[in-house]
Formats: sequence, C-alpha cells, structure tokens
Amino acid sequence: MKIDSKDFRVRPGKKVKLSKWPTSMDHLVMSDDEYRDLLKKHVAELSSLQQLHYASHRYALLLIFQGMDGAGKDGAIRHVMSGVNPEGCEVFSFKQPSAEELDHDFLWRSTCRLPERGRIGIFNRSYYEDVLVVRVHPELLRSQGLPEELRDEKTVWEGRYRSIVDMEKHLHRNGTRIVKIFLHLSQKEQRKRFLARIDEPDKNWKFSLADIHERKYWKQYMQVYEECLRATNTPHAPWYVVPADGKESARLIVSRIVLDALEELKMAWPRATPKRRAELQSIRKHLAA
Ligand code: AMP
Ligand code: MG
Repeated sequence: MKIDSKDFRVRPGKKVKLSKWPTSMDHLVMSDDEYRDLLKKHVAELSSLQQLHYASHRYALLLIFQGMDGAGKDGAIRHVMSGVNPEGCEVFSFKQPSAEELDHDFLWRSTCRLPERGRIGIFNRSYYEDVLVVRVHPELLRSQGLPEELRDEKTVWEGRYRSIVDMEKHLHRNGTRIVKIFLHLSQKEQRKRFLARIDEPDKNWKFSLADIHERKYWKQYMQVYEECLRATNTPHAPWYVVPADGKESARLIVSRIVLDALEELKMAWPRATPKRRAELQSIRKHLAA
C-alpha cells in the first residue's frame, strides 16, 4: 500500500471545504500486522533521518498539530516520534495563555519555543489557536488586553493571518521548514472517543467538561478552520488535512508527511575536509600505538 503525502496537502490559493475532505481512510490499513509493520518501517526511517538532520545542523523542522479535542494529536505525536532520539526533538503543548503571555503579542509565546537548527520542534496546538478558539469565542479576544481600537473584529483576523504568514515566511527564509497538520475528525467519532474517556477508567483523566461545551460550537469551529486553512496555506508552509477518524491510518499518514519533509531537505552526512582527515589519521596512529 502506498501513501502519498501530496494527496493530503491543501493546494495554495484554494478554498477549503472541510465537508468535502474525508475524515476516514480505513482502506489504508489491511490488518493489524500490516499496520504495525508499516508504522515500524516509518518510525525506523524517521529515526535515521532525524540523526542525519541533527548531524547536518542546517535546517530546523517545525511540525504543527491542530485539531478538535479527541482528534488524536497527542497519540499521533507519541507514535510517530516514538523512535526519535529525544535530544533532537522537543514537544510543546499550548494551553490557555498565562497572564504573562497575554501581555505580549499573540506570536510571542510560540517564538520562544521554536526549534533550533538540527532539531525537530513539535507544537501540540499553536499560535493558530489565536485565530481558532479565540475567533469562535470573541470574549476571549476582549480579554486579551489589546487596546480597543486594535481589536475590531472586521479587521483583526485578517491582520492575524497576515502576521502568521509573514512570520512563517521569515522562518522559511532563515532555515526553518514548517509542516502544518490538521487532524480532521468527524463529530460522530469525537462522541465515540468522549464516551470512551468516560467509560474507560484509564482514560478518565483525559475527559474535561469544557470539551463537551466546545462540541456545541462544532459548526463554528469548522468555519474558522476553513477560513484559517485558506488564508495561511502557502507553498513554504503548507497545510495537510489528515483524516483522523481512524487512529492507525492517521498515524501512518502523519509519519509519511514528516518523512517526506525530512527527505526534502536533501541532507548528507557532514564530510571531513582532506586536512581534517589527515589529522584524524595521525591521531589514529597514536591511539593504535
Ligand atoms: P488540550 O490541548 O486538550 O490540553 O486543551 C488546551 C486548551 O487550551 C484548548 O481548549 C485550547 O483551545 C486552549 N487554548 C490554547 N491556546 C489558546 C489561546 N491562545 N487562547 C485561548 N485558549 C487557548
Ligand atoms: Mg483536550
């Protein structure tokens, strides 16, 4: 079975109608064994490409995960990065902003967390929340402390999209490669996962009443996601819409996307110069003696 990450990539300049994008890809996974084998293969490839990424120390890779509650962001991150050397990888989860964070512009808290060269940075939610949850709940915008004349809802969202696109362009020019993944879940599957969080004692900790409250705003969330995907999808920082109703197929697709992003960097192991090689040979002679 072949997964082509381009199938999930939003085409630049295109409007996004999420109801037309599938939330499930069950046919991708034939059997448990096949799934495990393929994920294992992807994880092994990721592990060696990440080592190469770390050693070549040229680019930074930023992976952004967005999606509704229960879409499987944490699980996808955990599985896909399971073989990666923790030294070369950092995960940040963005929650409701703190008072200190709210006293800065909305990009500040993420820019402090950007990955260094040679590393993979993972954002579990991100600055995109500031055009998603905050747009669905305008009272959040009012509590962000912006001067009144700067939070006109007729202009503020376009302004934020522009800030995001400009910042991502800036990062691209400076050697950070960005991949943005929207885990596309159906409302029906979300209900199933919430029920499991109530029914299975080991999952109770994941359940939050606030999630049930947010579920009521599903339609609004889909609208702001569509708007956001359209406005911030660029050739240098593309969005991928990954069907998320099947956790297994989602993990396979996500790992394929990350693999392709690393392969695109066309990395090679750093080679020693002839002078350095001669030095090494001379040290070798001493050591061997
Ligand atoms: P979780 O990812 O389930 O741990 O939940 C984190 C919560 O923080 C979600 O409900 C997000 O919508 C919320 N959140 C993240 N960033 C922001 C933000 N900038 N403003 C308001 N809420 C946010
Ligand atoms: Mg949650």
